[in-house]
Amino acid sequence: MTQFSRRKFIYTAGVAALGSAAIKGCASAPSNSGGASPVASPAAATGGGGGLETTEVRLGFIPIFEAAPLIIAKEKGFFEKHGVKDAMVIKQSSWGVMRDNTEIGTEGGGVDGGQYQMPMPHLISEGKITKGNKKIPMYTLVQLITHANGIAIANKHLGKGLNMKDGQSKGKAYIDSLKAAGTPFTAAHTFPESNQELWIRYFFGSMGVNPDTDVKLIVIPSAQTVANMKVGTMDGFSTGDPWPYRIVSDKIGYMAILTAQMWEFHPEEYLAMRADWVDKHPNTTKALLKAIMEAQQWLDVAENRKEAVEILSKKQYINVKADLMMAPMEGNYAMGDGQPDIKDKNKGPLYWKDGKGSVSYPYKSHDLWFLTENVRWGFLPGDTDTKKIVDAVNREDLWKEAAKELGVAAADIPTETSRGVETFYDGIKFDPKDPSAYLKALKVKKVA
Ligand code: CA
Repeated sequence: MTQFSRRKFIYTAGVAALGSAAIKGCASAPSNSGGASPVASPAAATGGGGGLETTEVRLGFIPIFEAAPLIIAKEKGFFEKHGVKDAMVIKQSSWGVMRDNTEIGTEGGGVDGGQYQMPMPHLISEGKITKGNKKIPMYTLVQLITHANGIAIANKHLGKGLNMKDGQSKGKAYIDSLKAAGTPFTAAHTFPESNQELWIRYFFGSMGVNPDTDVKLIVIPSAQTVANMKVGTMDGFSTGDPWPYRIVSDKIGYMAILTAQMWEFHPEEYLAMRADWVDKHPNTTKALLKAIMEAQQWLDVAENRKEAVEILSKKQYINVKADLMMAPMEGNYAMGDGQPDIKDKNKGPLYWKDGKGSVSYPYKSHDLWFLTENVRWGFLPGDTDTKKIVDAVNREDLWKEAAKELGVAAADIPTETSRGVETFYDGIKFDPKDPSAYLKALKVKKVA
């Protein structure tokens, strides 16, 4: 027996002995025989149907709580446990850069995929936001998080009705008065046509404010929001924690509304990758998913949150002091404008499970809502075949395969690709079976 095949034999035997215990629990990684050849594939260790096609991957992230499952999978060794020894998580300075780096791919010095707002993967797939409108097929693979986003507003607008409590009764008059005075309310988000713009548009729309004509919308990267609000570049913004929380703790502004209040247990950000990479590396993709799922489970253990913020606080990650991140990480938000403080872990970031079931599973009905909102605001034509786009991009089938291989309990693996009817804070309902009824019910929209 050559040294190599002997190693392989020992490794495989070890895997069999480890069996499902290693899969179900958070047991440490099966030993990789101390630098064994990459051919001695650890994929089998996780119950996969074959060896890993590669142990390398480059994933981009944006410095907000949404990135935590990728960072924790790296730092707590889950990528390594599942054999993806050379998984790199690489900070991106903005969503535009994230998109550009995905476009060029690892071969061009970019990334294979990573954290994404929605429906950016669908818009990239359709060539709507790429250079020369090139269609670059992408797959959405796992939802990273729910909640942990909010709309913050500068203190000079305190008491004018721009919050969850008074928005729908008083907000519009105030926004109209600013417009009439020639100083329209300027609101920032982090990338066009996706989550943050959609949240702030929803907020204005629910007040009867038309975000296309009554306010000014601008793009600011997440990490620059605090500085820009300080100097008055904008009056409000929508982005991920810990940045809205920083506005309140730095006494620059207040929290108008949390996305957790707008839509309880709403879809937020996802892991999405280039389809060509996934098609070429199906086993490594599932290994990545298993590692991320374990990171999500780890993150939802309350006792781990302190360690999580310590890891996230590092310079190469979010680069905000750990003690400033602990409150929002635990669902503790001071609203700063007289609205009651929130102290509820179920209003904070949740990574694996929430009050409606699985956070991690990528429901097709969630993708459909994001695309329906794009239709609502005229970013996509009214006759867009949204269902067809979702079917091409959403790979919930891979999530399910990975979950089964990981040993996730059957009760935690959704059996429907739709989460059913969703209800927003203004009473509007989104029935994934009938998106046009939702569009008809909305007061403010562009679509006819
Ligand atoms: Ca977000």
